[in-house]
Amino acid sequence: MATTDPDDSFDCDTCGRTVAFDEARRTKTMGGLDPTTWQTLCCPHCGSRLKTVYVGD
Ligand SMILES: [Zn+2]
Repeated sequence: MATTDPDDSFDCDTCGRTVAFDEARRTKTMGGLDPTTWQTLCCPHCGSRLKTVYVGD
């Protein structure tokens, strides 16, 4: 289970920017996971997928 610290940031492999957790775009996951507990974080600059994170309790 990959829980994520809200203070985390992610390095975008595509555009090289560092994206804070709060800045990342959140979208539904591709794999049919429950969107209330799993979200995909995407780079707000280039739209690349950064990480799929667990956002439930
Ligand atoms: Zn990017």
